[in-house]
Amino acid sequence: MADWSPTSWTSKPIKQDVTYDDPAEVEAALSKLRKLPPLVTPHEIVDLKKRLRNVALGKAFVLQGGDCAELFDYCNQDMIEAKVKLLLQMSLILIWGANKPVVRIARIAGQFAKPRSSPNETINGTTMPSFRGDNINGFDATPEARKPDPSRLVSAYFHSAATLNYLRASLTSGIADLRTPLDWGLGHIITPSIKQKYTKIVNAVTDALRFMHTIGGLDQDRGVQTAEIFTSHEGLSLEYEQSFTRLLRHPPGALPSLPEQHQKEQALHRRGSSAPTPKGYYDTSAHFLWIGDRTRQVNGAHVEFFRGLSNPIGIKIGPSMTNTELVELLDTVNPAKEIGKVILISRYGADKIADFLPGHIGAVQASGHVPVWQCDPMHGNTQSTPSGVKTRHFTNILSELKQALEIHRAAGSFLGGMHLELTGEAVTECVGGAAGLTEEGLSERYETFCDPRLNEKQALELAFLVAGFYRE
Ligand code: PEP
Ligand code: MN
Repeated sequence: MADWSPTSWTSKPIKQDVTYDDPAEVEAALSKLRKLPPLVTPHEIVDLKKRLRNVALGKAFVLQGGDCAELFDYCNQDMIEAKVKLLLQMSLILIWGANKPVVRIARIAGQFAKPRSSPNETINGTTMPSFRGDNINGFDATPEARKPDPSRLVSAYFHSAATLNYLRASLTSGIADLRTPLDWGLGHIITPSIKQKYTKIVNAVTDALRFMHTIGGLDQDRGVQTAEIFTSHEGLSLEYEQSFTRLLRHPPGALPSLPEQHQKEQALHRRGSSAPTPKGYYDTSAHFLWIGDRTRQVNGAHVEFFRGLSNPIGIKIGPSMTNTELVELLDTVNPAKEIGKVILISRYGADKIADFLPGHIGAVQASGHVPVWQCDPMHGNTQSTPSGVKTRHFTNILSELKQALEIHRAAGSFLGGMHLELTGEAVTECVGGAAGLTEEGLSERYETFCDPRLNEKQALELAFLVAGFYRE
């Protein structure tokens, strides 16, 4: 790629940058990271890219979910298992609902860095740096703990590696073996009609699995005995991402079918050079990375870094994005117009989506880009309770999803997925859902270190409801 290198982002203006006290310590941490093995491989990354192409073409669905801010402390057996099981159960419901394969991407094994609206905050009269995520500083409310610490970048690698290791090990050891009965935990649902509706869906899914097992389908189909889960995080800390970005051999079949013009250019390029260029830059810290809404400036450092990656990438888009800017961004990060290379993650809010999504879809359709469209119904629906607790209402989350589906349908476009902040734990951070969580109940288990997440029951319920929309 012309005038791009893994360091070319350093000449561009950067948002959400971190200033460390000692540059030598930062360099020591990064040089250690550069020597460590990749967390994921081009083979896996390209596998995901191919699946996302199918999503863009309306042939599959993508479910992405996990914590807003992952902590090093979440690297433990129970929490990893709870998250894997939840994503798996949600995906089964969605497979049934949308009648399409589901690609699963977790916000896990590296979702440490957080953009913040203000670099500082005042707690109990003391002003200190805001918590920027476990790979940057500590959460404890002291100026000392909040000082950016470069050794956390190395810690982030080892926590990612340990999480990923257990994730892979549990998947290959049968955590996702659908021949064993799953506990759907519908006991909390107090309304009989809702309970009946969900039980019907669970029975339909269970029957289908039993049938597959009887005819031998499960034994042959590895995809049902075990499941693939791809990893993702926001590519915010560019020093960190750069140290995992390596020039690696493309796996066979890596270059997808591109528009005709681009294929011609590639052929010319191959003829003109002594050898084909079978390598590309892969960010091996995760399969999928996205650019957040705060760092997506066309001429900024993050877009510059991302445009050189061979990974599939995401871009968050909110109400501040103009139609022109959106197309300009797509042209910049995906000039070859590879189908499904980019996931556009829309996050407007239930009361704004109708004003922005139709225009964005129209502009993208006219541009000839074919991205995956994914709805993030979380980030546009954050609000504070009268006592100042950050929360999200289940009804707003559901409403944004429903509207997204309808707007895409009306525009002849395909809503290919959803992007959720969720946890496998029984936390109380979002209001509503069948268990009837109220604002007063939030303090019971309010544990997030950043944005409020759906608990496992609310997340499952959302999957039931979205599956229902597709079945309508
Ligand atoms: C996030 O996904 O946690 C996030 C910060 O989102 P956004 O960039 O959409 O605000
Ligand atoms: Mn968040």
